[in-house]
Amino acid sequence: MPAPLPPPKLGEPYLLTPGPLTTSFGVKEAMLKDWGSWDDDFRALTREIRAGILDLIGPGAEAYDCVPIQGSGSYCVEAMLGTFVPKDGKVLVLANGAYGLRAAQTMTYLNRAHTLIDKGDYLPPRGDDVAHALAEDPAITHVLAIHCETSSGILNPIDEIAEATHAAGRKLLIDSMSAFGGVPMDLATLRYTAMVSSANKCIEGVPGFGFVIARTSELEAAKGNCHSLSLDVEAQWSTMSKTGQWRFTPPTHVVAAFREALRAHAQEGGVEGRAARYSNNRDALVTGMRALGFETLLDDRWLSPIIVTFFCPADPAFQFSQFYDLMKSKGFIIYPGKLTVVDSFRIGCIGQMDAHVMNLVVEAARDALSDMGVVSAAPPAIALNERKKLAAL
Ligand SMILES: *Cc1c(COP(=O)(O)O)cnc(C)c1O
Repeated sequence: MPAPLPPPKLGEPYLLTPGPLTTSFGVKEAMLKDWGSWDDDFRALTREIRAGILDLIGPGAEAYDCVPIQGSGSYCVEAMLGTFVPKDGKVLVLANGAYGLRAAQTMTYLNRAHTLIDKGDYLPPRGDDVAHALAEDPAITHVLAIHCETSSGILNPIDEIAEATHAAGRKLLIDSMSAFGGVPMDLATLRYTAMVSSANKCIEGVPGFGFVIARTSELEAAKGNCHSLSLDVEAQWSTMSKTGQWRFTPPTHVVAAFREALRAHAQEGGVEGRAARYSNNRDALVTGMRALGFETLLDDRWLSPIIVTFFCPADPAFQFSQFYDLMKSKGFIIYPGKLTVVDSFRIGCIGQMDAHVMNLVVEAARDALSDMGVVSAAPPAIALNERKKLAAL
């Protein structure tokens, strides 16, 4: 067992909120320098992070390129949809939570054709759903899938979605925002046209940009598709390829922090190493919380190593806002849940935390329950109905 990770800074709470998330001191320190965005040193930095991201996708990477885009993750999703879906294309959006619905809303803003499979709060879209929808509607050109749906924490069955999409001869776009770099992805299985992630998730950088990883041939073919100047991935890519520069002011300090985060990621053993720590974090958290009487929304099979949804206890002494404040006072910032039918909360497993920290999270939860006078952490009966739906799959 490695030595416990040091706390982010004395007196600063851990962010169990992916993300922004808790970053290392080294990542924060890397921001203490100003960079000229046109200067060779910054161009070299940009080259280095683009290559470093591509290194993470493994065998087959030579057919792909990486294009960073300023803004938060949603800017990248919008950029990907606007750039790779032609004006006369049509997207099948697979939704089982807030991020899938946001992608559908983005398509509405883009004024481009789309159809939605909405599985509700968390039930996973399956390969069969995709195969069926694609067989019914020959106009669909692309499928948009969410890898880890962060609003519930479910790890969607991306392999079977990719398989069904490929079998029907359509193109796959993946929002792997919260999973990329922390969950292994096999390019040979997924065969995506493009995928997106951002600086402040599993790579453990700070917020300020995201990146699109796309097949070079698709980038070339996408010229002129985009509705937006600043979100045009093809234009950003061709400028960056020619000049080494971002088209508009880059978040220089964030990029420098990201390089440091990539180094630490490699040092930890790359995607495999990070996946192992996050899985340990999740296991320590889930085991400890279950021992207190809490129940997870998802069966073990669907639990991602990224974020976990717990049902709020039925005990009337439990108030989420009070629980949140108590957890914060004990050093941990958590997330409210996003389920529409049952009260819940979420705890993230990514960022500069290890199983030792997660055990402290469980202790804090135990103490918070006793501070509130909660006798049982068991969820209401209605929550258990939700679990049955998933078990029936
Ligand atoms: C974080 C996240 C996004 C992007 O959210 P922003 O708030 O725009 O950074 C998109 N999709 C998923 C699945 C995410 O987890």
